[in-house]
Amino acid sequence: EVRTRFAPSPTGYMHVGNLRTALYTWLIARHNGGKFLLRIEDTDQGRLVEGAVDVIYNTLRKCGLDWDEGPDLGGPVGPYVQTERRGFYGKYAELLVERGHAYYCFCEKTESEEDSGEFDRGDDPCRSLSMEEARAKVEAGVPYVIRQKIPKEGSTTFHDVVFGDITVENSTLDDQILMKSDGLPTYNFANVIDDHLMGITHVVRGSEYLSSAPKYNLLYEGFGWEVPAYIHCSPVMRDQHNKMSKRKGDPSYEDLLAMGFLSEAVVNYVTLLGWSPKGEESEREFFTLSELAESFDVAGISKSPAIFDLEKLKYFNAKYLRALSPEAFYEGARPYLEQAVKTPGIDLSLIAPLVQPRCDTWLDIAPQVDFFDALPAYSNELYCHKKMKTNEENSLEALQMVLPVLEGLSDWTYDAIHDALIDLAASHELKNGRIMWPVRTAVSGKAVTPGGAVELCHILGKEETLRRIRLGME
Ligand code: GLU
Repeated sequence: EVRTRFAPSPTGYMHVGNLRTALYTWLIARHNGGKFLLRIEDTDQGRLVEGAVDVIYNTLRKCGLDWDEGPDLGGPVGPYVQTERRGFYGKYAELLVERGHAYYCFCEKTESEEDSGEFDRGDDPCRSLSMEEARAKVEAGVPYVIRQKIPKEGSTTFHDVVFGDITVENSTLDDQILMKSDGLPTYNFANVIDDHLMGITHVVRGSEYLSSAPKYNLLYEGFGWEVPAYIHCSPVMRDQHNKMSKRKGDPSYEDLLAMGFLSEAVVNYVTLLGWSPKGEESEREFFTLSELAESFDVAGISKSPAIFDLEKLKYFNAKYLRALSPEAFYEGARPYLEQAVKTPGIDLSLIAPLVQPRCDTWLDIAPQVDFFDALPAYSNELYCHKKMKTNEENSLEALQMVLPVLEGLSDWTYDAIHDALIDLAASHELKNGRIMWPVRTAVSGKAVTPGGAVELCHILGKEETLRRIRLGME
């Protein structure tokens, strides 16, 4: 059975790259009818952020990535939070020591030296301590770490599904710490143990972990465990040279939602950053999540870094917005319409269909509809339109004719307004545009609006329409 896991560290936000990892991980599980697990990798206590795990839950839920086992659901191989597993790792490190693949290291301050890169671990005297000597020191209470004993000679080859076989000289690998002096595992060690104990068959992760992979391989060999399939994904870039980075202002998943993107569009677009369908579908761009699950094949994951292009995402988002049912669009648009149009009595559900074909994101709504609240200052030059054959003079004449007609309308419906204006144009043998352009301009103060004259008058209501037409005649 295929078992995959998403193993985020709770940072408080979801990087686009992390989201893509989650997507690929979920898609592999679902494509193969397997299980998708959620494991929280929180051993790095220094980075712990309040509420950060909720961000992970919420993101996965919003994206439709349901998990089969996880901290909240439990499951047969729990717990699913790494700090709750802290007691698990020691015995595996001891096992490796017994088998000669790890050793106790008593060198002082080794951890900080390691961090600063000042100390060459190549000739660590602890490597050659006999088991008895080492055990005696441990029993005497000398602080220690446990290090992986990388062979001095030879090379290690490991296989990655995306990058193929990678061979490194063992002499280039360091004796990394597996267990720290506080008895907690290092990140790399816990990761290997957990993946094994949780029965993970496919590990999907960012390629920044690629360089640790040979050491993982040696650990698996040391234990005699089967190595899972590794799928390292190239980074998501903001441009040719730079990775996307929250610190440098690149948007996270939450930021994208706040920028007015639909989760479905983000999911679709982000999946295609570094993966493309094969065969007949190779040109296809639009996929629902379940369609992706059907089509997703790891062979389509690309080795080259993908560039995140906000314009391309807008293109996806626009398509998704257009495809929503009118009801769904209104529901999504409502908060943005409410923000932009506060005048009581204006029926926002009438505005929604006017903007649906005209926005790339939810944030495009407000600037198009703010005139419903307040007529912007405009000059009478707006009335000049070549194609409509309108100018300032004949527009003012048109408004003078329109005013009494609309004043006399008792029934303020779309059809009544429409017929009244069309009849007016016909009775004066004028093209419709000669009437409609000045009316629309007068009531909106804009050359471009969602909806035409009749729709705008209808939505504004009789009183406000008449007020604006009178203003337009000044
Ligand atoms: N906890 C790691 C991260 O958030 C994931 C590493 C992995 O998936 O193996 O980047």
